[in-house]
Amino acid sequence: MFIHFLMKKMWENETKQFHLILKESLNKNIVELYNETLLEITKLKRNNLKTHEYTEVILESMGCTYCNRNGYFCGCSICDWDSLLINLMARMEALRCKDIDYYCRAVAFSITSIRGINIKGEAIEEIAIHNSFCNWQFPNELIDFIFKSKYIYIKNPLVGILQARAVNITQDKIDEWKGVFRKKLSVSIGVETSNEWIRNHWLNKSINNNQILDAVRLLKKNKCNTNVNIIFGLPGYNERQSIEELKRTVGALYLNDDIDIITISPLVTRRNTLQGLIEKNKLMIHKINLVTLFVALIEILSTFPGIENKMVISPPNFQSFVKENIMYDDKLSIEILHILQKYVRIGKNIKWKELLECSILENKDLFEYKNQIMEQSSYEEIQNDLYNIALSLSQIVFKEKKKEMIEMFSKELKEFIS
Ligand code: SF4
Repeated sequence: MFIHFLMKKMWENETKQFHLILKESLNKNIVELYNETLLEITKLKRNNLKTHEYTEVILESMGCTYCNRNGYFCGCSICDWDSLLINLMARMEALRCKDIDYYCRAVAFSITSIRGINIKGEAIEEIAIHNSFCNWQFPNELIDFIFKSKYIYIKNPLVGILQARAVNITQDKIDEWKGVFRKKLSVSIGVETSNEWIRNHWLNKSINNNQILDAVRLLKKNKCNTNVNIIFGLPGYNERQSIEELKRTVGALYLNDDIDIITISPLVTRRNTLQGLIEKNKLMIHKINLVTLFVALIEILSTFPGIENKMVISPPNFQSFVKENIMYDDKLSIEILHILQKYVRIGKNIKWKELLECSILENKDLFEYKNQIMEQSSYEEIQNDLYNIALSLSQIVFKEKKKEMIEMFSKELKEFIS
């Protein structure tokens, strides 16, 4: 697939660096390697994100094993969790290969270095690691060490939120995780869009709709909470297309009883991502912003009755999105920011419906903005728009292979179903 080659190329330097450090680390004495790894974690100076009832705990590890495929990096095109952490990831990978106990202790250090030991878990804790259902990244030994040994948590969190790839959700792993949290296990799955072609040929996720539906069904059968993450503003999409794609995705998911929560994450531009590459090469003119997000939320709330009981905007993602939009200083954006901040939180009972009665809906500038969006190319033109972006990127990235690559994309586009 075109996107596979594009991501592989974008991550070429990271792949080389990873190999180099991994080779060095595998040759080191385990204690020396372990101490170096802890030092590197300390240098990150991470802070957990904390709101009144939610805490995000970031765990360091060898990274996403879907992105790092046996030593070469080629993950989802919307994600750059890791490109600045290659050395640490290579050391973690070496620890994992050499001695699982040292690996578990090093991952656990990401918690103890910030929160100490013998801690009492908060009401809702998100255990932020790429794929907590991946046995290589989160082995059962690690679950035991962090949550069952009573060394770190003397009282586990009430509700735990985990992230996972749909394809890794198995009964065995659910059994391992069940009972860890005092009240509920909640699992988040990256769906991003209901359009399978876009998910796989543009976002490089390698996950089909049936795999997602099977995963949420299995989780629900095991009485877990299920959360699907969807992205608002896919790479290269204009504002009008972004709103339409979000409506289609929410429409496809919101009546599914196996899905408890739909988390909407506005796309944040990261360096080694498709959107990063598009913006770096100035191929994007109508990028989503806070006002687009607001318009999209209003559309969803008025189109899908009951969605207000399932919809969430993730606080960490929203914070990053707002930071990225910091340049907006017009009155409309500031007002919308103040309004949305009230609704950005984890949990149920968010009074989304109130948004439909906001006086800002009568605002002249908002009305004008909506009219302007309608002049952008429509969803029906998405194939053409993506082709043009792929064509420009082929010329920039693949150089002498550009013809072969764009032909590949063109062929793939013939299978596009909107
Ligand atoms: S989105 Fe998830 S699965 Fe995809 S590369 Fe990032 S961490 Fe890995």
